[in-house]
Amino acid sequence: MKIGFHVSTSKGYPAALLSAKGIGATTFQFFPSNPRGNGRRDISDKEIDEFQALRNQYNFKTLVSHAPYIINLASNKNHVIENGQDILRKDFERLNLLGVDKYVLHPGNHVGQGIEKGLKLIVKGLNEVLSDKYDFYLCLETMSGMGTEIGSKFEELSYLIDNIEYSNVGVCLDTCHMYSAGYDIKNNYEEVFETFDKVIGIDKLKVIHINDTLKELGSKKDRHCIIGEGNLGFDTFHKFINDERFTNIPFILETPNDIEGYREEIKILKDLKNE
Ligand SMILES: [Zn+2]
Repeated sequence: MKIGFHVSTSKGYPAALLSAKGIGATTFQFFPSNPRGNGRRDISDKEIDEFQALRNQYNFKTLVSHAPYIINLASNKNHVIENGQDILRKDFERLNLLGVDKYVLHPGNHVGQGIEKGLKLIVKGLNEVLSDKYDFYLCLETMSGMGTEIGSKFEELSYLIDNIEYSNVGVCLDTCHMYSAGYDIKNNYEEVFETFDKVIGIDKLKVIHINDTLKELGSKKDRHCIIGEGNLGFDTFHKFINDERFTNIPFILETPNDIEGYREEIKILKDLKNE
C-alpha cells in the first residue's frame, strides 16, 4: 500500500523523504516550486544523488508532485497564461531531474469565459509546453466546482485527456472535492466508479488525494478535514483502501494536520486494510 502526505522540501529532498519515512509513509507529495509564487530553490547534484539513494533504500519509487496554485491556463489574461507556462516548463525540467513520475495540476478557472472556452485554452496551453522528452504522468485533479473551476465533472476531465497531445495524461482523484462536486462516494461508491470508468476510464486514475470533508454533498465548497472527522467517515475510506483497482495507486493525505497527526492518520488508513 502506497500512502503518504504533503511534505515540505524547504530543508531539502533527502530530509523530506526521511520525515515521511519516519512516520510510516511509503510515498509523499511535494511542491517542486513555490506554491503561491514563482520562486524555486536551487538543487545540487549531491542532493539529487543522496535523494535517489534514499529512494532506492526505502523503496519510494512513486512520488507525487503538485503544481503551484497560481497557474491558470484558462485565464483571460495572456500574461497569466504565459507565467503559468513558464512555471510548468521549469517544473517539468525538475521532475526529469528528480525522476518523479507524477505531476498533479488543477485544470484551471475560466473566470467567466465559460467552460468550453476554458477547456480549449487549457488544451492549447498544455500542448505548447508538454513534449515527448518527458515521461511523467500529468494528473488532472478532480475539483469541487467552486467559482469558475474547471474539472468538477468527469466529462470535462475526459475532454482534456482526449485533446491533450501527450501520451501520459491521467487523473488525480480528490475524495473531498469529488463529494462537494456532487459525486456521492459515501452512499453510491460503486455507481460513481462505474460512471468514472465509462466517462474517463479507470485506468486513467493515477493518484488519490485522500481527505475527509467538512462540506455537504454537492456544496461546491472545498474544506478538507482529518480522516474520520468529516462527512465521508471511515466506511468510505475503508472502501477506497480495500479497492483492488487502487492497489498500486498512491494515497496522499492533504488534511489539516501536523506530523504526529499524519502518523496517526497513516496508521488509521493502514488499519482499515482487510487482511
Ligand atoms: Zn490539488
